[in-house]
Amino acid sequence: MTYRAPIADIAFTLKHAAGLTRAIEEGLYGDLTEDLVDAVLEEAGKFAGEVIAPLNTVGDKHGTPLANGAITMPPGWREAYRDWAAAGWNGLAAPAECGGQGLPHAVNAACIEMWNSASMAFGIGPVLTMGAIEALAHHGSDDLKRTYLPKLASGEWMGTMQLTEPQAGSDVGALRTKAERVGDGTYRITGQKIFITYGEHDLTDNIIHFALARLPDAPAGTKGLSLFLIPKFLVDADGSLGAKNDVRCHSIEHKLGIHGSPTCTMVYGDQGGATGFLVGQENRGMNCMFTMMNNARLAVGLQGVGVAERATQAALAYARERRQGQAAGTSGAAAIIAHPDVRRMLMTMRALTRASRAICYATGAAIDRAARADREAARKAAHERASLLTPVAKAFSTDVGIEVASLGVQVHGGMGYIEETGAAQHYRDARIAAIYEGTNGIQAIDLVTRKLPLSGGATVKAFLDELKQTISSVAAMNDPAFEWMEIRLREAVDSLDRATTWLLAQNGKAPEAALAGATPYLRLFGVAAGGAMLADEALASVREGGMGAADPGGRIAVARFFAQNLAVAAAGLERAVIDGDDSLKGAEAALAAG
Ligand SMILES: Cc1cc2nc3c(=O)[nH]c(=O)nc-3n(C[C@H](O)[C@H](O)[C@H](O)COP(=O)(O)OP(=O)(O)OC[C@H]3O[C@@H](n4cnc5c(N)ncnc54)[C@H](O)[C@@H]3O)c2cc1C
Repeated sequence: MTYRAPIADIAFTLKHAAGLTRAIEEGLYGDLTEDLVDAVLEEAGKFAGEVIAPLNTVGDKHGTPLANGAITMPPGWREAYRDWAAAGWNGLAAPAECGGQGLPHAVNAACIEMWNSASMAFGIGPVLTMGAIEALAHHGSDDLKRTYLPKLASGEWMGTMQLTEPQAGSDVGALRTKAERVGDGTYRITGQKIFITYGEHDLTDNIIHFALARLPDAPAGTKGLSLFLIPKFLVDADGSLGAKNDVRCHSIEHKLGIHGSPTCTMVYGDQGGATGFLVGQENRGMNCMFTMMNNARLAVGLQGVGVAERATQAALAYARERRQGQAAGTSGAAAIIAHPDVRRMLMTMRALTRASRAICYATGAAIDRAARADREAARKAAHERASLLTPVAKAFSTDVGIEVASLGVQVHGGMGYIEETGAAQHYRDARIAAIYEGTNGIQAIDLVTRKLPLSGGATVKAFLDELKQTISSVAAMNDPAFEWMEIRLREAVDSLDRATTWLLAQNGKAPEAALAGATPYLRLFGVAAGGAMLADEALASVREGGMGAADPGGRIAVARFFAQNLAVAAAGLERAVIDGDDSLKGAEAALAAG
């Protein structure tokens, strides 16, 4: 079962949940039209389905063998990447002045979903290049921008993002890679990085590493990190490739999934040190890296959406074909989709996928507004909205990716556990997205300790008000199809509201209590926000088709299912947030026992 991009679904969410239609009407995107967006989505979907998707199993089987320091990418990947970059997909959202197309991040988010539905291992490489473009465009010197941005934006060169070292994973401040001032404005880099995605490959002639390192006189912790651009090949004054830099791939990891994505240990300084160029200011590297990471966190959330969509498509196709047992109203063996329990699994998959898509696209739209709104106050509010939603987009959606891929295996029964259906690969691939780009536990802590307090809690309260407004609109429908949707979503948003107020009161006063409840809180946030966004889509569907009309995209049915089956978890999650710390009392003794 291959992948067919759900263009109508994607466009609907983009226009409604992400507010693209309203933004276009307001003039936020200049002369962009919905027709152009539709054409872009159509082309991206075609490329993802026809060119990338067939390479997914090839990448899984072949992996990325390393010999003599060089990695050979799986068969067909070089050609696919070349054509993908030549079509301009890499620079879709990059600024026009650096050779990009300047299209909205929200539209790019939709495309990133499609690349990753087609293949997570293929999709993750460009995501890092896109992050590198952002970081360089915001923080790089004019010289660096001139030399590197156009080739990164065109995809002729790819970028990497390098934080992790053996002793420094979530605790980035513990990293030890050294940078020394050479005296001519450049730096000498020595040390080792592990788990570096696309650290070495043969897709492009040059690879531009963005690595955090520490100067000899730097303060300890994250305040002493600086960001360096370190090209695999140095670039001569005329733009041509010069000498090989002192950086190499020492080894690659053998891992659970995304076998087509090389995960490299990188060594700097075999011959005295690699030449690095400072991005931004000394000791302000985390600031620059956050520009890169925020972009990448949304993209990793979109990997969750992408793999969930692909797993759902495969499960649905299988459930229509596979015949087992009797079902009410059928004679002979029934297709398993006729069984209520299978339908429940499939609806859970569809509802979670659509909810996480809505959250991710809304995050992309907030990023656009933060950059493009004409008033400073609107830009600030949008920036804070994007900051608030980014950890939710990353962690909720990647958890959804795993859950949905797991259900996909279940729908396939024993065949799901056998590699040839592809369901097992989706499950294996999905697992990484909850770990890299900051584990989901770290995202939850970020949400609770850094994002809730934004503007004294006003940012999250404004978001809650919007969710409540949606529920009032659902109530105003005064239609039986919307009745339980309203009741269950109101309960869920009220739970989120109370848990938010409680957490805001703990910050500073009882930090341990807030940390203990962070993960159930992020889930509660995703469930309440996702449910309300699906209800909003159901309302939009009625507006488009008229009340009582057929529900062609199944928007009302999906929103109703989500409210009655998934949003109801909110009450339990609220209790888990508030009782979190209390319920962990005695954990040490319990874990020590036995
Ligand atoms: C396939 C793959 C690709 C990767 N690509 C890259 C890349 O391109 N660039 C890069 O720099 N890194 C990359 N990484 C590294 C990745 O980002 C880290 O693995 C991740 O950030 C977690 O760090 P760690 O593995 O050291 O786990 P640890 O930090 O040891 O965490 C272990 C567990 O403890 C929890 N934990 C840790 N600290 C805290 C805390 N303070 N509070 C609560 N819980 C905590 C974590 O949530 C996790 O559950 C990649 C990893 C893999 C496996």
